[in-house]
Amino acid sequence: LGGSISRALQQMSNATIIDEKVLNECLNEITRALLQADVQFKLVRDMTTNIKKIVNLDDLAAGHNKRRIIQQAVFNELCKILDPGKPSFTPKKGKPSIVMFVGLQGSGKTTTCTKYAYYHQKKGWKPALVCADTFRAGAFDQLKQNATKAKIPFYGSYTESDPVKIAVDGVETFKKENCDLIIVDTSGRHKQEAALFEEMRQVAEATKPDLVIFVMDSSIGQAAFDQAQAFKQSVAVGAVIVTKMDGHAKGGGALSAVAATKSPVIFIGTGEHMDEFDVFDVKPFVSRLLGMGDWSGFMDKIHEVVPMDQQPELLQKLSEGHFTLRIMYEQFQNILKMGPIGQVFSMLPGFSAELMPKGQLDTSNPKLMTDSRIMRIARGSGHQVHEVMDMMEEYKRLAKMWSKMKGLKIPKKGEMSAL
Ligand code: GDP
Ligand code: MG
Repeated sequence: LGGSISRALQQMSNATIIDEKVLNECLNEITRALLQADVQFKLVRDMTTNIKKIVNLDDLAAGHNKRRIIQQAVFNELCKILDPGKPSFTPKKGKPSIVMFVGLQGSGKTTTCTKYAYYHQKKGWKPALVCADTFRAGAFDQLKQNATKAKIPFYGSYTESDPVKIAVDGVETFKKENCDLIIVDTSGRHKQEAALFEEMRQVAEATKPDLVIFVMDSSIGQAAFDQAQAFKQSVAVGAVIVTKMDGHAKGGGALSAVAATKSPVIFIGTGEHMDEFDVFDVKPFVSRLLGMGDWSGFMDKIHEVVPMDQQPELLQKLSEGHFTLRIMYEQFQNILKMGPIGQVFSMLPGFSAELMPKGQLDTSNPKLMTDSRIMRIARGSGHQVHEVMDMMEEYKRLAKMWSKMKGLKIPKKGEMSAL
């Protein structure tokens, strides 16, 4: 995916004359790639229409970096789609809030409920879990197990078959216990059946949640828009959580969910474990969607060009979780000489080789980059302050990525699936 977008942009920057035809071809290529990433057709079409309005052909013809201009425009438009314009209701610590989770069966509600509770518990909240799923056999056991592991109080029943009654009793119980985040897990069905929506409506009416979170599996593809819309029409969805972002899906359905529910994505699930849960951040998400900075693709490319076993020192440092500006600099310098891999790096947003601040390489702590230092680097290298800051952002992102690799064996060629 990232490959085809960067190829499209590459072709564009090779073209000497940028006319409407070249721009259209480029946007067609991007459209194809975004559809592959499950972004809804209508959203893609609207986006490309906007881009044609925004991108000035004269600027492109005169500008030096056409690829950057288009890439930035696409990037910005996708970020805009993910911003519904108003933040979701945010519970306040110490004040009781009721949060209800909805979504199809298997989307990850029960898992995500626990992650959400655990996330807040670590920050000093008093969360509690209510299992109002009486549809799926073993639902209560699953929630109970999760909750016990995380030491979070839970409520449910093996005998009561009315989800509304359980939800109300659970909420009342935890209100009395002064819990400040009462989370109601609901049932799902395999399909969007009327019975599911009716049940959700009743649970919501009885418990009056402050926030309804729609949980969506990132791999549902083009179905995302209709599914999200169906839920929104039944209950007052106020936020979205996209799960299974650790899988192959690029998660373009998240854009559909935001568009259909007019609610922001607040978290993403990145694994089955309790702490595989991240606050949603628009920019890295869009980078991933565009295939920029995709780790496994990046590693594939590295192996194509640089046999890792010829770089024992680098390997050692990376596996220890060290990733300094010097490493980034040296790798970029080496790698840029190598042709194809340079293209991989050029996909990273904000990356510019000549931007690397030569005198600052041993600064392994980005916090040491004070404003005046950044300004000095910008002046010294003839760049804009924001460009230096972009570079630092990119460094931080890569450093974070590498720190996740800590202790992991860097796979040899052919072992890529392990990532
Ligand atoms: P529910 O039916 O909506 O309550 O979904 P569950 O919470 O039971 O999750 C269904 C399956 O998806 C379980 O096997 C979970 O472990 C798995 N799951 C949930 N979230 C994630 C995630 O972010 N990543 C991965 N890899 N698996 C997940
Ligand atoms: Mg469940």
